[in-house]
Amino acid sequence: MCFWALCFWALFFGAAVFLVAFLDGGSGPVPAVDAVRSRQGDFMQLVFDGHNDVLLRLWRAHAAGIDPVRQFQGGTREGHIDALRARAGGLAGGLCAIYIPSMVDFVLTEPDAKGHYNTPLDRQLERAPSLDIALQMAAIALRLERAGGWRLCRSVAEIRKAMEDGIFAAVLHMEGCEAIDADLSALEVFYKAGLRSLGPVWSRPNIFGHGVPFAYPMSPDTGPGLTPLGFELVKACDRMGIAIDLAHITEKGFWDVAKTSEGPLIASHSNVHALTPVARNLTDRQMDAIRERKGLAGLNYAVTMLRSDARDVAETPLTDMVRHIDYMVERMGIDCVALGSDFDGATVPASIRDASGNQRLIEALKTAGYHDSEIAMIARENWLRVLGTIWHD
Ligand SMILES: [Zn+2]
Repeated sequence: MCFWALCFWALFFGAAVFLVAFLDGGSGPVPAVDAVRSRQGDFMQLVFDGHNDVLLRLWRAHAAGIDPVRQFQGGTREGHIDALRARAGGLAGGLCAIYIPSMVDFVLTEPDAKGHYNTPLDRQLERAPSLDIALQMAAIALRLERAGGWRLCRSVAEIRKAMEDGIFAAVLHMEGCEAIDADLSALEVFYKAGLRSLGPVWSRPNIFGHGVPFAYPMSPDTGPGLTPLGFELVKACDRMGIAIDLAHITEKGFWDVAKTSEGPLIASHSNVHALTPVARNLTDRQMDAIRERKGLAGLNYAVTMLRSDARDVAETPLTDMVRHIDYMVERMGIDCVALGSDFDGATVPASIRDASGNQRLIEALKTAGYHDSEIAMIARENWLRVLGTIWHD
């Protein structure tokens, strides 16, 4: 990153902190900006993050009659990401998921006396209404780009340019392919709209495969993997240069993708099963395969995937995040570890709070002994390397 780009970020950072502090409307306390203000002008590690659900939040805002473009650009106290809080926390871009919500609001099953839970898998969704929702979310992404709120990126060069220009670098991702038809026509159209990454399944079955439930403690080996159509989808992604995300898929599905795709293996927002044995986290064997295939795993900030007791409690220390990073680095090497916050999709540690608190994790990594060059790899460079080997542009 050049000197002038750094100057730009330092200036914008100051302005964003000022604006966030004076936001009106919304609910909840003012985002914590004091610690951020004290770093004003300091070098910030820009973060390119592997997973967020900001499009889901904006889609819900749109359904409630709120202008999603204004909410993202002007700032809000809702959720985790908008342009102002992203800049304040050095969140320079990330993979933004098109995710079709469950027909009924998804909630984790209440834990038993031992803290164990096993939330039943959501049922399979119908394609037509799923396609409608996916189109609406893609439309919000395109409108945001037209309004200058963010830039939809289709290449690593475009991501780096957006970072230098100080505009959020969004990459369209699909989390579960309920909107894609069996002959993959919709995939062609979404690709043209900017889709460059997809997870065949979320935590429910669809025509392409099977996902893991939200369960603790539980192995990720919970059932079948890809369907015959799922194998075709994976081959099509390889041909088209679309990243394949293994978060949410069963362990069987993970190995099905590993033997079918020739690309690096990616789990965009999954943690360490040995530390937090939820079905969504990665086993040592899965991490070994990610290392061998020069892929990556992105640290999920969801407290249920960080804490050893898997409880949904925001008062979760940053040391839990560092503990998972340490394990991933030990097992896969520094070049296969990245970030996948799940902002706007999960409860994150209270000390992070939202995108404006992103640098607190960076500081925790520094305190734990990571050098700036290693943190840069975790924060953005590993994602850019892996995407660069998959994408054709
Ligand atoms: Zn997810």
